[in-house]
Amino acid sequence: MKALDELTFDNRFARLGDAFSTHVLPEPLDAPRLVVASDAAMALLDLDPAVAETPVFAELFGGHKLWAEAEPRAMVYSGHQFGGYTPQLGDGRGLLLGEVYNQAGEHWDLHLKGAGMTPYSRMGDGRAVLRSSIREFLASEALHALGIPSSRALCVIGSDTPVWREKQERGAMVLRLAHSHIRFGHFEYFYYTKKPEQQAELAEHVLNLHYPECREQPEPYLAMFREIVERNAEMIAKWQAYGFCHGVMNTDNMSILGITFDFGPFAFLDDFDAHFICNHSDHEGRYSFSNQVPIGQWNLSALAQALTPFISVDALKEALGLYLPLYQAHYLDLMRRRLGLTTAEDDDQPLVERLLKLMQNSGVDYTLFFRRLGDESAALAVAHLRDDFVDLAGFDAWAEQYKARVARDGDYSQEQRRDRMHAVNPLYILRNYLAQNAIAAAESGDYSEVRRLHEALSKPFEEQPGMEQYAQRPPDWGKHLEISCSS
Ligand code: AMP
Ligand code: MG
Repeated sequence: MKALDELTFDNRFARLGDAFSTHVLPEPLDAPRLVVASDAAMALLDLDPAVAETPVFAELFGGHKLWAEAEPRAMVYSGHQFGGYTPQLGDGRGLLLGEVYNQAGEHWDLHLKGAGMTPYSRMGDGRAVLRSSIREFLASEALHALGIPSSRALCVIGSDTPVWREKQERGAMVLRLAHSHIRFGHFEYFYYTKKPEQQAELAEHVLNLHYPECREQPEPYLAMFREIVERNAEMIAKWQAYGFCHGVMNTDNMSILGITFDFGPFAFLDDFDAHFICNHSDHEGRYSFSNQVPIGQWNLSALAQALTPFISVDALKEALGLYLPLYQAHYLDLMRRRLGLTTAEDDDQPLVERLLKLMQNSGVDYTLFFRRLGDESAALAVAHLRDDFVDLAGFDAWAEQYKARVARDGDYSQEQRRDRMHAVNPLYILRNYLAQNAIAAAESGDYSEVRRLHEALSKPFEEQPGMEQYAQRPPDWGKHLEISCSS
């Protein structure tokens, strides 16, 4: 275990120089205090969880203090926002404080979000409010616990600093961890500003640090792009299988590592709804739940365009062609497991599709359905779940096919089936209304609810005593909460 002042820095991105980022100091928050910290994320830095409660922790992550070896930098990037190109974005309210090595030899970017104005703040104030910081913290740690690749969050620091949104709120900071904060938009920036030397430097940097195994391939850049395609296909398959809606899949919010990144108006589905739009500002539904799949490919094409100086167009097209089949294979594999199946049959895909259509038409809770399906034998479970459906004849027909499919699948006990299914079907997910309750309490100074919710979500597959309230369908008020872009 390390003390806070024992972190070891090696700031590789900062060393790329001023063409890539700008030195900016964090602007401290008034009266910084710990709202919540993640023990699991603390462990990634070899930190003793107890240090989160010390005043110096809130000072460090509330922008008051810096390690001597930290080199806070605002990164420049651009990106396609809602389909249109924005020539310059960048860290408008976040700073890469530095890169830290842990004892296992892994490096982690420390990124402080809500740290004040930078040259890339445009019209913004450089701040993040408590509400959005709590949402990012809970989402990144919850996704990780579900097995969905994501940036991580170390802590949220709250404050007395007033921040104006629709009303006056309080500023907060979230400390984000990732192996890299490089986005698709970094490559787009150097491509569209016609800076081939810097673009080559960036590509070398990513290849050497994050895709070193691609060096061995005859065409290292192409191998790297293929790997990025594969990782995105897998990540989005997991989003779809677990009902995660990102909300702002702009290319500046897509990580070069294929991890879920930059959380705004995200949501987990309550009732299954393929057309769900979680971002209140997304009037056209560009980033609706089911559109996430083709948008994943659209975003990869935007990255491919920016890589044309290094890779032939034909090779890029071929690599992009891998996306959809890979996505489908991962998705179907996950859905089979969610249904408790251990083998593959040709008709599994229509079996999944028919179920989702029935759930859609009846507004069935996406998470609880799968959990309850494993609670009892297939026959008993479908008999009990039947009540949730409006189209009873449709559900009965599906249930017959499902039971027959389960019978063909293998000879295992209900206990084995349940354990296997419960290990992939969470009981607790980050429902919007649960986040909302935790935020409301935190805004009035009570951080116990956000800490408890974080605890429940850190073991989403394990039934935890006293956490029943997190395994319920939302009340009416919590079903249609309106959440917009950044805040
Ligand atoms: P986002 O929608 O959070 O991905 O942000 C898009 C761009 O706007 C990024 O360049 C952000 O850094 C910037 N941005 C968002 N909110 C603020 C803010 N309050 N102050 C300054 N820049 C911001
Ligand atoms: Mg962003």
